[in-house]
Amino acid sequence: MYIDTHAHFDMCMKDADRKETDILAIMNNENVQRAVHVSIDVEGLIWSYNFSKAHKDEGILFTLGIHPSSNASDQELKILSEMVETVKRNNDVSLLFGIGETGLDYYRMRKPVDMQKKSFEFQLDLAIRNNLPVIVHSREAFEDTFSVLQKRAPVKGIMHCFSGDAAMARKVLDLGMHVSFAGNVTFKKAAALQEAAAYVPEDRLLLETDAPFLTPVPFRGKPNWPENVVHTYKFVAELRKQPLAKLIDTIEENFTLINSAG
Ligand SMILES: [Zn+2]
Repeated sequence: MYIDTHAHFDMCMKDADRKETDILAIMNNENVQRAVHVSIDVEGLIWSYNFSKAHKDEGILFTLGIHPSSNASDQELKILSEMVETVKRNNDVSLLFGIGETGLDYYRMRKPVDMQKKSFEFQLDLAIRNNLPVIVHSREAFEDTFSVLQKRAPVKGIMHCFSGDAAMARKVLDLGMHVSFAGNVTFKKAAALQEAAAYVPEDRLLLETDAPFLTPVPFRGKPNWPENVVHTYKFVAELRKQPLAKLIDTIEENFTLINSAG
């Protein structure tokens, strides 16, 4: 089976006329049997939880978190940690894949650096306290992201949509983290990123769509959907000179381990 470790189902549906049941049916047809729906703001937390509960038999897990571009006041951080408690009280922790996505985004810079850092540190500690993986977003903020993570190393978590080179990947791996590649690894000019995807050791590699963003080749330019992770698998298998079946098994093993380590 294929696994999409990072998708935003709510955003996928907002911009297109595909219904929830259609998305899941197409995924199933393509043998994408697991996917993680990733939360980005306080407003979406309950939707994420309900979406995963409704589709747990179809392999949908969810995260709770606040993206660095979303508002993260003290009040909102409190709501987030209360939500984690609610999920625990309801015995639904098996659906909660991790905390995030959180991190730093200096490219969009939609929120002040202070707010981003405080929110990132809060969510990292929330993940550690609950022994959950943290899903980290870092855009044009590698040094700062790294130094926040380093203070808490070893970190159980995923550097999502990794977009650096092999040397940066080495630093992330040294923190104890997994590295996840999205559709941009298939882009023609992504030589350094492809080098990183070939470099990451087998037991730390994950793949994702980040749908509706970063649609892989050959559908680049169109909206992205979770089933497109299949194309990223095929590309990365070739890049790593590995049989596709072997890569499928490897990623399933990694995903199962990080998901059950709680
Ligand atoms: Zn994302």
